[in-house]
Amino acid sequence: MEETYWDRRVRRIEARAQLYATEKSKLIQKLYVEQRDKLLKDVDALYAQIQDKGADSLTRTQLYRYSRYQSIIKDARAGAQVIMTTQQRYVDEAVRAAYKSTFGMTMEELLGKGDWNHVSQNLIDAYLKTPWSGEDYSKRIWQNTNKLAHDLEKHIGDIIVQGKSPSELKKQLVRDYNVDYSVADRLVRTEVSAAHANASMQSYREGGLEYVQVLDAGGIACGECIDIAYKNGGIYPINDAPRVPVHPRCRCCYSPVLNDDKRIKQYYGGENAPKSSDIAPKPAENQEKGLAKASKDDIIKMTNKEVREYYVGEVAKIPSLINRDLPAAEQAKQAFEMRNELRTKARDMMEDQELRMQLESTRPMLSFEQLVDSKMSRKRMSRAEAIADILLTASKTNENVNKELGLNDE
Ligand SMILES: [Zn+2]
Repeated sequence: MEETYWDRRVRRIEARAQLYATEKSKLIQKLYVEQRDKLLKDVDALYAQIQDKGADSLTRTQLYRYSRYQSIIKDARAGAQVIMTTQQRYVDEAVRAAYKSTFGMTMEELLGKGDWNHVSQNLIDAYLKTPWSGEDYSKRIWQNTNKLAHDLEKHIGDIIVQGKSPSELKKQLVRDYNVDYSVADRLVRTEVSAAHANASMQSYREGGLEYVQVLDAGGIACGECIDIAYKNGGIYPINDAPRVPVHPRCRCCYSPVLNDDKRIKQYYGGENAPKSSDIAPKPAENQEKGLAKASKDDIIKMTNKEVREYYVGEVAKIPSLINRDLPAAEQAKQAFEMRNELRTKARDMMEDQELRMQLESTRPMLSFEQLVDSKMSRKRMSRAEAIADILLTASKTNENVNKELGLNDE
């Protein structure tokens, strides 16, 4: 699939929004480092005091009597508090800046220059009042930093009582700050993605568009999103589009589909275009189908891990079963069909039909042509390359799924 003018514009606008996340994430990192270094100094002071008193080993109760212990705990809590309020402000600033720039740039593209900053102010305020994840980010920042304070306090007490060295305690504290910072980084990036997606949707609505296209992040960061970016060419009625970001750090975005775009007709059949809710299989139907299959008692049910082992083993045999005398496209089709058959068989065998239904919606069966198209657009391949790739990867299974289902790395 060729990249359109709009795809490129949308990517640029999205990249601009992400710059605000990067900028703030760096500041947040600095914040963590400052607080961390302060606490590491406290560790030295506390150990010096313990040594001064000549204590060989300490119980938790004894530890509480050290003034340096009380002050390190106080500093850990106060530091987490500072991280929380400052991070809050940074994320807020990043979200506002990303929203404003996305809305302004998109409106300018759609409707020309105007005072879009003025318009976006009210929209941003409204947006910030409607948490997209059902749990707004202030609450999550609060939870993360609370967890940090709790972890620090616990580790300081545990490690000293265990009689370990100051350097061991320091290592642990550095880890605690790092872990919490990575959560903070993920949060600001995902919030910025959400602000970008929301602002672009808002501007498409203002521009009177009825359809949007979900663009996945080029198959690099967002393997999970390929399905929604692939179905119907990723084209959805604006009020029925799947929500992005789909997952943390998701870089998918909405691209505008102009009302006279012929793809709308192609996927939704012209003027009486049905809403995608009419086209997509309803969850209830899916469920019935899954349950009906689950009740077939002629199939022996196995655990997820057993099924996966069976599947990986069978898939590995595919290359040896392909008729190598056929043209490449035919060989690829053979491999593809064998694989689909195995997949259905494996899914039928699963005891956990709830997971099966989940798999069916997140990893639906594609037709051969759909898979070729998907590879072409996702990996920017030619048709021949896509076919060669199908053949090449015929025996490859998804490592993440393998791991998830309890299979070893090997
Ligand atoms: Zn994504």
